[in-house]
Amino acid sequence: MASVAFIGLGVMGYPMAGYLAKGGHDVTVYNRTSEKAAKWAAEHGGAHAPTPRQAAAGKDFVFACVGNDDDVRQVTLSEDGAFAEMGEGSTFIDNTTASAVLARELHAAGTARGIGCLDAPVSGGQAGAENGALTVMVGGDEDVFARARPLIDCYAKMVGHMGPAGSGQLTKMVNQICIAGLVQGLAEGIHFAQNAGLDVAKVIDVISKGAAGSWQMENRYETMDAGQYDHGFAVDWMRKDLDICLTEARGNGSHLPVAALVDQFYSEIQKMGGNRWDTSSLLARLKKA
Ligand code: NAP
Repeated sequence: MASVAFIGLGVMGYPMAGYLAKGGHDVTVYNRTSEKAAKWAAEHGGAHAPTPRQAAAGKDFVFACVGNDDDVRQVTLSEDGAFAEMGEGSTFIDNTTASAVLARELHAAGTARGIGCLDAPVSGGQAGAENGALTVMVGGDEDVFARARPLIDCYAKMVGHMGPAGSGQLTKMVNQICIAGLVQGLAEGIHFAQNAGLDVAKVIDVISKGAAGSWQMENRYETMDAGQYDHGFAVDWMRKDLDICLTEARGNGSHLPVAALVDQFYSEIQKMGGNRWDTSSLLARLKKA
């Protein structure tokens, strides 16, 4: 069993770290708001540390799941960051959804110190994290992936090694690009069904088994029909992700007209006060228009 540090006990990180502990690993956690770290340690019997640097000292594997690029830089490369105490041959696994540029930057900084680095963003949401059933898209060196794989398996149902550093984040971008247009399509379909006087549950029961079916349809139609958005994947996070996608697309020559449009729709939802609403709140915007 490995000695592990986990940095960032948010909606995703808290249960993910829990699955590493349940997997028999010796886990020390760090969270910026220290009460959460103390709560986690009491619940799982692990230790907690006051800085990422102290959490990471002497550990074989250090995981992070924080907010954005700058947050990751802060918990790794700053004076109190994990890299300052990570030894040669140790491994850093970043589960944050961040840019491919950051992934390559960390890989280079890690390599210079003898630290193996993987970008390993996740998909599957809060429920996937709480059930230990996330999809994990990994970029980085093959041998580093091989040694981290058994630990990643603790919180995953699907793990793919996508290529060199940055490839995990690029795969996550594809995931978000696909979701953006899909959720808008679903919102338009439900909006239309409601206005046509159809029974939305009946409609979804029939069409979800056909070509229009999707995870979003199965898991979100009920709350969308009821106008409930206080759950799930926050609009603020989606805007961060779409910004990463659109920036990368400008660099690699991709045209993403629908993703760009849906990003604007989400900015309107933020103006409606929906920063923390689930991404399916695109329907609330249609109903307001
Ligand atoms: P969250 O609940 O807001 O948690 C964010 C965590 O990061 C908290 O522990 C927060 O500490 C910590 N943090 C943020 N900035 C920090 C900084 N500068 N220094 C130290 N700690 C910092 O977010 P989440 O939903 O777990 O999401 C985490 C990552 O996973 C994001 O990149 C998100 O895009 C991605 N993701 C989320 C979902 C989802 O459904 N939620 C799905 C897939 C991917 P505090 O507790 O002190 O605030």
